[in-house]
Amino acid sequence: MMKKTVALLVVACILCVLLTGCAPKQAENEFFAMDTVMKLTAYGKNGQEAVEAAEDEIIRLDALLSISSETSEVAAVNADGGGTLSEETSALIRRAEGFYRETGGAFDITVYPLVDAWGFYTEMYKVPSPAELANCLERTGGDKLQLDGNVLSFLESGMAIDLGGIAKGYASDRVCAICKEYGVKSAIITLGGNVYAIGTRPDGTPWKVAIQDPTDPAAYAGVLELEDKAAVTSGAYERYFEEDGVRYHHIINPKTGYPAESGLASVTIVSADGTMADALSTALFVMGKDTALDYWRQHSSEFDAVLVTDTGAVTVTRGIADCFSTTDGSPFEVAE
Ligand code: ADP
Ligand code: MG
Repeated sequence: MMKKTVALLVVACILCVLLTGCAPKQAENEFFAMDTVMKLTAYGKNGQEAVEAAEDEIIRLDALLSISSETSEVAAVNADGGGTLSEETSALIRRAEGFYRETGGAFDITVYPLVDAWGFYTEMYKVPSPAELANCLERTGGDKLQLDGNVLSFLESGMAIDLGGIAKGYASDRVCAICKEYGVKSAIITLGGNVYAIGTRPDGTPWKVAIQDPTDPAAYAGVLELEDKAAVTSGAYERYFEEDGVRYHHIINPKTGYPAESGLASVTIVSADGTMADALSTALFVMGKDTALDYWRQHSSEFDAVLVTDTGAVTVTRGIADCFSTTDGSPFEVAE
């Protein structure tokens, strides 16, 4: 009798461990910030504390970097034609300047006057006249931006900066750091098109991140298996308007002033560095496939990419070719 009870107790204990082991505590936090629906899911100990601290951090960053909040640091330098910034904002702008130089100007935070002329800030969309675009182009260009220590100055009047192409990536890196501080080993962070996969899924398998099919929002172009990596997608389908049957989207070619028409419909960048992934998803979209792949060949230790063309053809760079699969098993090109 005694033996049976002990045996039952042991079985109960094992079951208990197995069950809780299989289904660790899940903490979820969904909110709206940086113009985006954000969803943070963390598993295991301290998950709830981590996702709450992460939301506070994103709200803090939004208040610092947003162009729409009149009290943000970025809005202040835009309104004042320059000024002194915090160390943190200066550091992010310095990184943006680095991407401007490395991408040959494809990533350029001085696109503000252009994005504004197309109506993307106010949602009062319009196609600007060539004269208006020419005027905006005179006030655009990372080479006309100067950051001296923490003091930002514009070399032309009427210039302004927009960190919308990099801020969510930076926020994802900060959320990742907070999760690590709290000891969270399994989490999935979705800030709109910016996803960060922390560790693995609770069962130890890699996270699966789906890439939207740019030609059919209801379908997937493919799925990536990721561990401790950001996956950031920039797509022509994310924000756009139509006029006279032409579609105009929100990723601007800083050289022409027009929405980038590069033959790419979406670019996904995979990297442990979420800030880099965000900036490069925008930049490689502007570059187009051939230039984007050349850029990757020079930086293949830092990131990988999934490129989807306007016709739906998929190219995946070598480093993530084994982590990628198309949902219907259709073939894709691997870039070497
Ligand atoms: P989203 O923020 O919609 O996910 P992106 O990361 O591609 O998409 O960033 C696009 C945003 O960045 C635009 O809404 C605009 O604010 C800004 N932007 C547009 N074109 C450029 C560019 N060439 N370089 C840097 N920022 C850009
Ligand atoms: Mg981006």
